[in-house]
Amino acid sequence: MSAESRKNGGHKGVAAAFLDRDGVINIDHGYVVRAEEFEFVPGVLTACAALAKMGFALVVTTNQSGIARGLYTEEDFHRLSDWMQQRFAAAGAPLTATYHCPHHPNEGRGPLRRACDCRKPAPGMLLAAIRGLGIDPARSVMFGDKRSDLQAAAAAGVAQRVLLGTDGTALPDASEDGGLATARYRSLAEAVADPLLPPLCARSACEA
Ligand SMILES: [Zn+2]
Repeated sequence: MSAESRKNGGHKGVAAAFLDRDGVINIDHGYVVRAEEFEFVPGVLTACAALAKMGFALVVTTNQSGIARGLYTEEDFHRLSDWMQQRFAAAGAPLTATYHCPHHPNEGRGPLRRACDCRKPAPGMLLAAIRGLGIDPARSVMFGDKRSDLQAAAAAGVAQRVLLGTDGTALPDASEDGGLATARYRSLAEAVADPLLPPLCARSACEA
């Protein structure tokens, strides 16, 4: 066993917490692009700091069809992502990476209007992260507020798939998850506060 794999409790690869953005990290006002309109879901930064402390790499995966639709540019998106990253880092929850899909299959004009393999429910962003960052999907968890988040995670082999209420306002109904959720909570804060959440249990078991 290498020193690296011993450090991970004998497991290969990094445990990641995949985070959807709109509706999970920030209130989904629809095509949010300016920091002034970016409103964190209550408790999300503290919850992410707790996940980071548990050893999860924080990886944002977000559909951004507003780019294909011409509502904002790649540059606008990256400007907001840089600002968001600073807020996460200041809260003790540095983001390991952010992946976004700028495409839409049938909206907008130009080369971004196409069927792609990265727009969730397709798993392209997660697969790229797994390959690029050395993530072990079997030790990882997806936090999303839509069935498409869970579908992408399942297709990428992410073992734990947690369905959250959009904007942290209500517990999502079991009928919304397509049978793919391994747990449901109102918000990321509520999920991370639950010591029985399976990936957190698994993490403790790894270190035992
Ligand atoms: Zn795409």
